[in-house]
Amino acid sequence: MLWGGPVSVTSLPRAEVVVDLAAVRHNVRLLSSRAAASGAETMAVVKADGYGHGAVRVARAALEAGATWLGVASLDEALALRRAGFTTRMLSWLDTPDVDYVPAVRHDIDVSVSSTRELARIASAAAEVGRRARIHLKIDTGLSRNGCPAELWPELVKAAAAEGNVEVVGMWSHLACADEPGHPSIDAQAKRFATAYDVMRDAGLSPLRHLANSAATLTRPDLHFELVRPGIAIYGLNPVPQREDLRPAMTFRSSVVLTKRISAGESVSYGRTWTASRDTTLALVPVGYADGVPRTLSGRMSVWLDGVRRPVAGRVCMDQLVVDCGDDEPELGAEVVLFGTGENGMPTATEWAETIGTIDYEIVTGMYRPRVRRRYVDAPRDSV
Ligand SMILES: *Cc1c(COP(=O)(O)O)cnc(C)c1O
Repeated sequence: MLWGGPVSVTSLPRAEVVVDLAAVRHNVRLLSSRAAASGAETMAVVKADGYGHGAVRVARAALEAGATWLGVASLDEALALRRAGFTTRMLSWLDTPDVDYVPAVRHDIDVSVSSTRELARIASAAAEVGRRARIHLKIDTGLSRNGCPAELWPELVKAAAAEGNVEVVGMWSHLACADEPGHPSIDAQAKRFATAYDVMRDAGLSPLRHLANSAATLTRPDLHFELVRPGIAIYGLNPVPQREDLRPAMTFRSSVVLTKRISAGESVSYGRTWTASRDTTLALVPVGYADGVPRTLSGRMSVWLDGVRRPVAGRVCMDQLVVDCGDDEPELGAEVVLFGTGENGMPTATEWAETIGTIDYEIVTGMYRPRVRRRYVDAPRDSV
């Protein structure tokens, strides 16, 4: 199935992302069973169009596999999911100061509150709609992004408890170093979180608590509380050093469009940074940095072609790259995997990230591009 893109005159993949929904379900089942073992529910985080995998399809798969909440960064993302038919609990956590909260209240979307200003605006939207708004108070426990600073927390909690137009459903925070298990900041943040909860209890509130991202869901059952918020692990990318049975859901593929023989001494691509040391066969692949292959991978990447890894010769261009095939000659149209599950020695998004000094989150999230076709594959429910 084509997603979003224009009608195409080709069926071989030019630049194509294949998302394996069975892998998403497998991952969510693993995460939600860990959460359930501590009595927690699972919020599948599908912000940024499901980390580049497609929020609607991922959300549907996640809910089938045991998630009971959806989490997004913005109210626009949440409303898009409501329009797509999702009626499940949903939390949205970051908008600009002029955001209109009326649709959030009307469409039963939970929103995060970090200040009395936000509280007042949400309460007035609720009054306008004639229904209480569902809010999650956010405490900053040490990440210093959004969230209420500890010194303003008692005032915020008191104001929320006294505000008849809101229902305080949750209390939450976010960890800075959960992907480094044992990092002392994790316990320090957990301690501040506990102190903040005591303030809530003193104000007569006992909302559900949530703190754990993927890494903490996998490694810190003591921090699961009533709800966990995994994102990256849903997509099969493992944020912690220990091995986990996660399956990468995204494969990025293309096809061979031309092969040619060149002689020793000939150079390849812009800047002539690569020169053949022997006569060799090149395969041209029509993907480049406009399709999500970082140009900084030039000279440092290989692709999976005909069952083996082959190096990319020279610079990655806007629309194409060239693979050195030695004395092998791939068929025209042969599949080229840029990154995928890692099985059989295939490259992975994680490997790309490590090579260029970023995280795999950025690689997969960056694959949402107009020229990259997105396709979904699935397996029968009972086989995964
Ligand atoms: C993105 C995000 C998550 C999910 O984090 P992962 O590391 O992808 O599991 C959880 N909570 C908040 C507030 C987020 O912004």
